[in-house]
Amino acid sequence: MSTLIENVYLAPVVGPEIESGYIRIEGDRIAELGAGPAPDAPGATRTDGGGCLATPGLVNTHHHLYQWASQGLAQDATLFEWLVALYEVWAAMDAEVVKGAATAGLGWLALSGCTTSSDHHYLFPKGRGDLLAAEIEAAREVGLRFHPARGSMDLGKSKGGLPPDVVVEELDDILAATAEAVDAYHDPSFSSMLRVAVAPCSPFSASAELMTESAALARAKGVRLHTHIAETLDEDEHCRERFGLRPVDYMEKLGWLGPDVWFAHAVHLSDADIGKLAATGTGSAHCPSSNGRLGAGIARVSEMLRRGANVGLGVDGAASSELTPMAGELRQALLFQRARYGPDALSARRALELATLGGARNLGREAELGSLEPGKLADLVLWPVRGPFTAAVADPVCALVFGPAPPPTLVLVGGRAVVSDGELRTISQDEAGNAGVAAHRRLTRLARERGVAVDGGSAH
Ligand code: ZN
Repeated sequence: MSTLIENVYLAPVVGPEIESGYIRIEGDRIAELGAGPAPDAPGATRTDGGGCLATPGLVNTHHHLYQWASQGLAQDATLFEWLVALYEVWAAMDAEVVKGAATAGLGWLALSGCTTSSDHHYLFPKGRGDLLAAEIEAAREVGLRFHPARGSMDLGKSKGGLPPDVVVEELDDILAATAEAVDAYHDPSFSSMLRVAVAPCSPFSASAELMTESAALARAKGVRLHTHIAETLDEDEHCRERFGLRPVDYMEKLGWLGPDVWFAHAVHLSDADIGKLAATGTGSAHCPSSNGRLGAGIARVSEMLRRGANVGLGVDGAASSELTPMAGELRQALLFQRARYGPDALSARRALELATLGGARNLGREAELGSLEPGKLADLVLWPVRGPFTAAVADPVCALVFGPAPPPTLVLVGGRAVVSDGELRTISQDEAGNAGVAAHRRLTRLARERGVAVDGGSAH
């Protein structure tokens, strides 16, 4: 299987941009790219990339796909208020809700240029089916590279945590289920479509023991670690009161800094915290839309980058960033950094790098993903930046990042078209969207049956 994309503007992220060039794909890898007309490649399928910008596929490094079913609730709440309102709703979810929500959420990501997504699933209410298997099945159907993180919470309200006891699990059950998930699904190969991470939810919902045991398990299995950290000032206060430490110091004490760890958010960091992340190779998933929606704050991304810490981007769960397209996070990240630090805080090209190579590094896949280079996997996106309206912007990368990104015309994952001519090709786009609506209706009904009110803009 050989594919040639010609006549395209190439922004490979690593290496110089090419104003008019080609890219040749053999099987699931990039074989070559260059300037000028494409060389002869007998038998190759040829795609005219005229008017398009080619970039590496976007890598989403933080999400909660199940939240597609609970969007638009607790609209004006802080993180802790929002969680307390939604935990009871989420307690009603089952495998059918997760499957529908994940199908819609992943389809939506593909339609905004995402080719690899992680997911942090940390609620496993008893007797509700195999929720992890449900989202893995959805990812297989949509055709995105998938990095599900087997999440967990063991610190219910009765033990001083934030979540109600009904949504937490016992430590031994968590460790057994997590080990089982890694053994069943984790594929460490170069072309892997599925890798599992280990992900206790947060310092206010996971015990110290769960954190340390999870780290030991992940390291024994050779998989990565993920959790939420330093998202809000409430969390900062919680950690200081409960542990006598700020969040990053607490994680350091638990053995949770290192090149195999990436944190979601990392908003409220001190200078010393940034130094620790940089020195240990600990990554972060910056989720600007979610941070804005919950009024959490603006992460110190440009300072983190300047000091050598790795940062990727994430849309976060749709309940705290409704319908957020992956491509929109490049713009949101750029605007947030400039609003805080001035116009030289983050360039369009650096924003693209965060969303591609930065994300690949968070997931431990910088050898395979994140840039257009020969030998890497053929995950790429064609953006129609020279169409009506968009062609009025002088620079194609600027058109992608500064403006609302145009819907991609082509999204390849390992050379396979997940989106072409702006439509999902692996599954019916209408069915994917409808699956999300059905998941929302089902979750709402199941929650009401448990006596939880779910009304319009607020959940009680
Ligand atoms: Zn999150």
